[in-house]
Amino acid sequence: MLAYIFNADILCEECGRDVRRRLNESALLAYHGDPHADDSDPSNPDLIAALGFDPEDEHAYDSDDYPKGPDGDGGGEADSPQHCGMCGLFLNNPLTDDGREYVIDLLIDHVFDNRGDHAVLETWLDAYRETFDDAEIGRMFLETIRVRLTHAYTR
Ligand SMILES: [Zn+2]
Repeated sequence: MLAYIFNADILCEECGRDVRRRLNESALLAYHGDPHADDSDPSNPDLIAALGFDPEDEHAYDSDDYPKGPDGDGGGEADSPQHCGMCGLFLNNPLTDDGREYVIDLLIDHVFDNRGDHAVLETWLDAYRETFDDAEIGRMFLETIRVRLTHAYTR
């Protein structure tokens, strides 16, 4: 899934485009008083002049000022599932080993304690199920049971 980086956050394609469009409009409005002057064309020389940089050249600006992207893989491999910072859409990014362990931990907690958001966890399970190592899940599940039994007997 395509995603933008903006303001230390990851945005889905739609929200990233939306932020870019609004920034383009306000820059064009400030530049020549017409926010709708062909702001859809990134090579529009007016837009480059209005923004003060070329939006197609990611090295020309900072992601704090203007969304960078879009790039694939939902913002790239990460230690946790990524969601859009504006609308919350799940971005289906690949997970690191730590990320897989993190999700499995949350799923186990959910099964035992009904902790976490069921719908979100179900989405993550569907997205990552094929990347999980069943032996690893079994080991983590048994470890959780062992810890809980120990806890139960020492209380
Ligand atoms: Zn979004």
